[in-house]
Amino acid sequence: MSDQFDLIVIGAGPGGYVCAIRAAQLGMKVACVEKRATLGGTCLNVGCIPSKALLQSSENYHAVRHDFAAHGVIAGDVRFDLPKMMGHKDEVVTANTRGVEFLFKKNKVTWLKGEARFKTADTITVGTESYTARSIVIATGSESVPLPGVAIDETRIVTSTGAIALAQVPQHLVVIGGGYIGLELGSVWRRLGAEVTVVEFLDRLVPTMDGEIAAAFQKILTKSGMKFRLGTKVTKADTAGERVALTLEPAAGGTAETLTADVVLVAIGRRAHTENLGLDAIGVSTDARGRVVTDAHFATNVKGIYAIGDVIAGPMLAHKAEEEGVALAEILAGQAGHVNYGAIPGVVYTWPEIASVGQTEEELKAAGIAYKVGKFPFMANGRARAMGDTDGFVKLLSDKATDRLLGAHIIGPDAGTIIAELVMAIEFGASAEDVARTSHAHPTLNEAVKEAALAVDGRALHI
Ligand SMILES: Cc1cc2nc3c(=O)[nH]c(=O)nc-3n(C[C@H](O)[C@H](O)[C@H](O)COP(=O)(O)OP(=O)(O)OC[C@H]3O[C@@H](n4cnc5c(N)ncnc54)[C@H](O)[C@@H]3O)c2cc1C
Repeated sequence: MSDQFDLIVIGAGPGGYVCAIRAAQLGMKVACVEKRATLGGTCLNVGCIPSKALLQSSENYHAVRHDFAAHGVIAGDVRFDLPKMMGHKDEVVTANTRGVEFLFKKNKVTWLKGEARFKTADTITVGTESYTARSIVIATGSESVPLPGVAIDETRIVTSTGAIALAQVPQHLVVIGGGYIGLELGSVWRRLGAEVTVVEFLDRLVPTMDGEIAAAFQKILTKSGMKFRLGTKVTKADTAGERVALTLEPAAGGTAETLTADVVLVAIGRRAHTENLGLDAIGVSTDARGRVVTDAHFATNVKGIYAIGDVIAGPMLAHKAEEEGVALAEILAGQAGHVNYGAIPGVVYTWPEIASVGQTEEELKAAGIAYKVGKFPFMANGRARAMGDTDGFVKLLSDKATDRLLGAHIIGPDAGTIIAELVMAIEFGASAEDVARTSHAHPTLNEAVKEAALAVDGRALHI
């Protein structure tokens, strides 16, 4: 007879492992299946965590070389040790994945090691064993979208997984795709000395972010030495020579040209991962982009089967997956789990960082919503000046009639941390005036948020 559980979660990424833990906290007998040797999914193993470790290490190196002198700190012969940097990244990954293992033990979640496949709607197989559950959650995440004509070998033509493990700094790195993953990893290698060219099909970077922020971002990255080929597509990669020869064409078609690189990072997006799950056999519906279709309660069209995280619609972000994991576990326990998709922040962890929550100006225009704008530059913020980090600004959008905050967009130092108060404000339905009337400690970067909120009403104080 197969082992019986209340809940089986397939995939131990931030969606799956959090769902498993929350369900166990709520008294369910839970198993989580993971085919990787370690827990934590894309995020902890090859995504958020290792990329942030390398961003931090390379940022430190860049700061010592370029920013310390302005503070009167004179550093001598500054070098970096790439194997050590990679070692630090690997240690951080191990500490985090082991942490999830500990949490599974603490919460009595059974880790089933191997690849899960549906046998029937309530039974999966892992290797030669079968397991049955009242509810099964698909949390199998996503994978890199391949680019036709550009075959990945993870050494010279890499996905993000290869790009966080290069053995040496490439002389010329070409990043295909101007989204956050390409720009973060491009920044890492640029800071370590690579020439970096970003080729993007669209005529702008980070397409889901506010246009004004994206334009400022491109300027700052250009200042750092990154090169951009916007409105351009890569149609072929030739690896016969010592260097990879990429064929580039204008996005709209036209004369082809060649661009050579030592390493090419393909970062054109990610797609839902459902391979080998056996979804067809049990009739779970997917959409045109291969994502598992769910209703507002994460239920698929097959009774007892649910899905969360990157494998369903919505932003492919770890914290979005986690929120869904918690909400689903609570729904399965008879509670009122809910995710507010209007208050999910998005952050690009370059320096300066970009952070965003709610609607962009472009989205408000397209929806015909009348809005007010308040902006404040970090150049006028005392703390940013003291830090020597004055690039960027805070931009708030509020409803013209009610003043309710509709969107917040920041480019600047620590934007990813600063945004938290605005996520909270949107979650609580605050107005720009509410934020403006809230005391902000001085001198902090967050004072730029207060000033932008004052600026919505035309009454910023420090500009
Ligand atoms: C380079 C990079 C940087 C990123 N940085 C950030 C960031 O800074 N912030 C952020 O919010 N997001 C970031 N992301 C995105 C983030 O990693 C994902 O949104 C998140 O991991 C999605 O979680 P998930 O649980 O849905 O899926 P995943 O984390 O992809 O986990 C799914 C797991 O399911 C397992 N699995 C799949 N099929 C099976 C099967 N049949 N049987 C058993 N196991 C299976 C997989 O092995 C995997 O471990 C980044 C991604 C990348 C690639």
